[in-house]
Amino acid sequence: MHIVKKADEKIKPDTWKKTVDSDTGKKTVWFRCPNGHMGTLDDHIISYDGTVTPSVVCPEEGCKFHENIKLDAW
Ligand SMILES: [Zn+2]
Repeated sequence: MHIVKKADEKIKPDTWKKTVDSDTGKKTVWFRCPNGHMGTLDDHIISYDGTVTPSVVCPEEGCKFHENIKLDAW
């Protein structure tokens, strides 16, 4: 299990942050993979303890990040 830390102001690599989509008003979570690419967890389920299902694949073409992740301090 890959643990992803909660972001402060900046979303550094390997951190997550709650946000609201400015177009749809829908709540979502931003996530930056350890290689620095940004994605959302829109199409994932996040359990009460921060465990994300299914496993997360980085949206960046060529990035090999693919892990079962858990959001720290969810
Ligand atoms: Zn990546």
